[in-house]
Amino acid sequence: MLQVNQLGKTYRSGQRELTVLQDISFSVADGASAAIIGPSGSGKTTLLGLCAGLDRASTGSVYLNGIQLDDLTEDERADVRNRYVGFVFQNFQLLPSLTALENVMVPIELRGERGAEKRAVALLERVGLQDRRHHYPTQLSGGEQQRVSIARAFANAPRILFADEPTGNLDAETGQRVEELLFELNREAGTTLVLVTHDVDLAHRTQQVLRIRGGRLVSE
Ligand code: ADP
Repeated sequence: MLQVNQLGKTYRSGQRELTVLQDISFSVADGASAAIIGPSGSGKTTLLGLCAGLDRASTGSVYLNGIQLDDLTEDERADVRNRYVGFVFQNFQLLPSLTALENVMVPIELRGERGAEKRAVALLERVGLQDRRHHYPTQLSGGEQQRVSIARAFANAPRILFADEPTGNLDAETGQRVEELLFELNREAGTTLVLVTHDVDLAHRTQQVLRIRGGRLVSE
């Protein structure tokens, strides 16, 4: 589902260059789960963004579902993301002016599909939030907001879900529940799961642990 070959990323601003990733190679099988761990600033979020086609690598290549991302235009990468990729972020990133239901409907409507509301209701039910569907994000707890964002991430039935510190803003117990939900969806829907985490317990529940230090893969 995901194959990364000798990936490197150098950020450039004016005369300054900062190489944040070097020579990273690994692959994640269809339906598998993987965690990217490592100290703050080691390049985890950058790596996740390159794998998900949010940004372009400086060297090396990324294949997502067999599609090579490196030579695609911005629009083509967006198309690959819309088709195959779901995202969950540490800070939920829900649209504050929309209800839980409307947030989950957005990606379905953007694809121009009919029956968005029915599908969004079913997704909210799946994450245990059917009775919160008309609440706005500020009226929801952190754990509930993250569950809405997971429902939204699954709105387009992604083949692969990228999660950046999905439990990072949640207390231990709530984080545990969100974690369970991600693994359940990974198992039930066969969605490949790639997450960045500081949480060693969470990382050890995945099938594969990628340890990054100073922009290099130090163990797998
Ligand atoms: P982590 O997720 O492991 O904390 P990041 O991938 O966020 O690490 O960042 C790795 C390094 O890249 C850091 O030194 C960070 O400051 C730098 N960095 C991240 N994004 C950018 C950017 N858009 N421009 C320049 N430097 C960046």
